[in-house]
Amino acid sequence: MTTGTRFIRVLLTRAPEVVLEGKTIRAWGVDGRLAAEAAGRVTLAAVGERIRWNGSRLLGDTLDAAGAPDLRVGSREGIGRVRLLARKGELLAVAVVPLEAYVAAVLSREAPPRFHPEALAALAVAVRTYAVGAAAKTRDPAYDVVGTVEDQVFTGMDGVTAVFREAADRTRGLVVRYRGELARTVYHSTCGGRTEDAGSVWGKDIPYLRAQFCGDCADSPVYRWEYRMSETEGRHVAKALGVPPGKDLGIAVTGRTPTGRASRVRISSSGVSRELQAAEFRKAAGYAKVRSLKMEISHVAGGWRFTGEGWGHGVGLCQYGANGMARRGAGFCEILARYYPGTEIIGETP
Ligand SMILES: [Zn+2]
Repeated sequence: MTTGTRFIRVLLTRAPEVVLEGKTIRAWGVDGRLAAEAAGRVTLAAVGERIRWNGSRLLGDTLDAAGAPDLRVGSREGIGRVRLLARKGELLAVAVVPLEAYVAAVLSREAPPRFHPEALAALAVAVRTYAVGAAAKTRDPAYDVVGTVEDQVFTGMDGVTAVFREAADRTRGLVVRYRGELARTVYHSTCGGRTEDAGSVWGKDIPYLRAQFCGDCADSPVYRWEYRMSETEGRHVAKALGVPPGKDLGIAVTGRTPTGRASRVRISSSGVSRELQAAEFRKAAGYAKVRSLKMEISHVAGGWRFTGEGWGHGVGLCQYGANGMARRGAGFCEILARYYPGTEIIGETP
C-alpha cells in the first residue's frame, strides 16, 4: 500500500448480528492487539456496547477484522477490511476501502461493461465526487457513505472487472467542483431526451443541475418504456397511499414540471381523493415498474397503462447519454461539462 492512499468507510449493514466468512479471519481491538482469530465463519453479535465473538467471548465495542485473502460480510464479497462497532445492541459493519477501488466497484454496479471508456471515465469522476462530498459532511462519525442506493450501491470488490478499474485509474483523484466546492454529481440511467432541474425534484435549485437537452440516450433500452399495472396492483398502491380503493379508483397526473415530468399525481375513489408528489407515487408503485416520471397514465381494460421515457430521476448526468456522446467522440471532460455545466474538473488535494 502506498502512502497517501485515501480510504472511504462504507456502511455495509447495521444489525444485531453480522456474519463474517473467510479462509482465515482475524480481529484486532482498537489498541491494535489481536483479539480473536477464526477460520471459515464467525458470527458477531452486539451485546449492548460490546461485541460477542462466535457466541462466546465478549470483546470491546470496536473490532477491526480482515480476512485472508479477503472477507465475505453478509452478501458482500471481496471485502478487505471491515470495522465493527457495537452500539446499543446493534452492530455496524463498515468496510474500509481504498477510494479508487470503491469508485471501480460502484461503477461496476452502475454501468454496463460495454459502455465506452470515456463514458465510464466520466461516471467514475461523478462517483468519486459524490463519495468525497459525502465523506466531507458525514452523517455519522462511524462511516462516510452507505453502501446502498441511499448513497451508491457497493457490494464488494468481487467481480469488478478491468474496464471499471481502468476508468477509476485513468481519472484517479479527479473531482467536479463548482466555484471551488465539491459538486453534487448526481446521475441516472436515461433521461429520455431532456434532463431535469434539481429544483423540480428536490425543491432546491442547484446552478449546475439544470435541465439540459440530451439527444444521446435514444439507444438506451429504457428510452421508451411501458408498464401495465393490474387492477389488483393499482388497489394495493392506492391503499398504501391512504386511499381506500373502490370500483371507481382513478389514478391521474395532475401537475407537470417544465420538462414534462409528472410532479403531482391524484388518486381518487368513492369521494376520497388524495393528491401527492409524483415521486411518492413512483416509490409506492416501484421504481423498476414506473421507471421515470416522464410518463402518461391511461385507464385501460384490466388496469392502467403507463408509458414513459427514460429511467431515473433525470437530474445530472444521463449515463446512456454519456455513452452516446462518447461514441460520437466526446472525451470525459466534455461529457461532464455538458451534464454539470459551469463546473470544473480538478485533481483533489489529498
Ligand atoms: Zn439522456
